[in-house]
Amino acid sequence: MSGVPSGRVHNLINIAAYSVLAGAVLVASRQDILSITPSQALYFTLAFAVGTFLLSPDLDLAEGKVDSKRHWGVLGVLWVPYGMLFSHRGLSHTWLVGPLTRLAYLAALLALIVGLLRYVAPSVTVPAIPQPISVKVVAPLIAGYYLSQWLHLIADGVRPDHGMRRGLKKLRRR
Ligand SMILES: [Zn+2]
Repeated sequence: MSGVPSGRVHNLINIAAYSVLAGAVLVASRQDILSITPSQALYFTLAFAVGTFLLSPDLDLAEGKVDSKRHWGVLGVLWVPYGMLFSHRGLSHTWLVGPLTRLAYLAALLALIVGLLRYVAPSVTVPAIPQPISVKVVAPLIAGYYLSQWLHLIADGVRPDHGMRRGLKKLRRR
């Protein structure tokens, strides 16, 4: 086995880091150094949990068995094409674009499902995203999600300048 942490180890590292951060934020708020509203803390926590357990960079292995795919239950099968498209520890494991590939993939999946739903059952109304979305909501979501991803990359030993050379899998090699 290589020295790459397993899904369980990644989860433990992220949970530990979250606990330390939460403790530090709590102390800082008590000292009036920092002021974070309960809803900001909630958005951050939600995005961090989703990034840790549901949108891990190791979904690039979803064509096989992987912890983050298992967390999706039967829906884990939806990530198989992502696993086939992205090589392990390639573009999926870059610091800026990597986390975006999973959000984009998820958005494409949702669009597909909504499109199918509209086609099959035109009378069904799909809940719309309330506009405009406030920065106060988006900022803690982005921070929580990206922090969860970066902790994974740090634990993997992936540097922020990790290139895109081994990005998309070459289909002809499969
Ligand atoms: Zn990884």
